[in-house]
Amino acid sequence: MMERLCFGIDIGGTSVKLGLFTDKGDLLDKWEIPTNKEENGSHILEDVAASVNKKIVDGKLNRDNIIGIGIGVPGPVTEDGTVIHCVNLGWGVFNVAEETRRLTGFETKVGNDANVAALGEMWQGGGRGYKNLIMVTLGTGVGGGVILNGEILTGSNGAAGEIGHITVNFEEEDSCNCGRKGCLEQFASATGIVKEAKRMLEKSKEPSKLREVSHLSAKAIFDYAKEGDDLSNKLVEQLCRYLAIAMSHIAHVVDPQAFVIGGGVSKAGTMLTEKIKKYYDNNVLFALKNKDFKLAELGNDAGIYGSAKLIIGK
Ligand SMILES: [Zn+2]
Repeated sequence: MMERLCFGIDIGGTSVKLGLFTDKGDLLDKWEIPTNKEENGSHILEDVAASVNKKIVDGKLNRDNIIGIGIGVPGPVTEDGTVIHCVNLGWGVFNVAEETRRLTGFETKVGNDANVAALGEMWQGGGRGYKNLIMVTLGTGVGGGVILNGEILTGSNGAAGEIGHITVNFEEEDSCNCGRKGCLEQFASATGIVKEAKRMLEKSKEPSKLREVSHLSAKAIFDYAKEGDDLSNKLVEQLCRYLAIAMSHIAHVVDPQAFVIGGGVSKAGTMLTEKIKKYYDNNVLFALKNKDFKLAELGNDAGIYGSAKLIIGK
């Protein structure tokens, strides 16, 4: 019997990542094309279709063995594949699944990129073996995904899992990118952590190795915390406490088996997961304690894995 194949695609603001997968989860090939944002991104899906077609022709693949295409996009997506404004791509409101089906002839499923990454980690990454998990991605922003019974929780407007915009500090006076104040993203994104460090360095007279760093970064803060720098440790503790607060709120609603932490900041490793776990356990009902805290494993490939899983299904 011929192997069944599918494409997992992750559309980002600068590049589109594409992967060819077997339905068992083996990544056979991956490549990238630039994201053409001209004319409100109206050529992006045409480029994707052309690239998929070229791979089929070059690889002499049999179209009958291809079960379809999964796509992750950086914005809210409803269950039928309609995006509700992808500011990054210049897209308004339209049905991406339908359009891709028309352009390629293949069945297509579409999801939000952060949600899809969570599905990818559940399938072949740090969340393997779980069917109910929450993923939090700590990058330039804070993304999230909620997986329940092996499927993405999408919500009525495709905006479920926006963990980065849970309010964790009601006293904060600066505004988040979303226009509100005190969001998790303001404290737990790579940029947020650095901003907090600058604040703390200004406020306190405490000596700290961070004062000698020419370019403050989340990595420097974690490295110095591990070396015993007090101020760096305070920053890490604050970060983990805010993360744990947001996670405990979600846990009280969905009672997941595990949390998976991904994104560049997660390179801090088990120091991060252990501290989050400590604050989390102090913040939840007894029945919600003792969850597993895992690190993501797929890095930038989580999106293509999750997109492939979207089309493969449970
Ligand atoms: Zn926000």
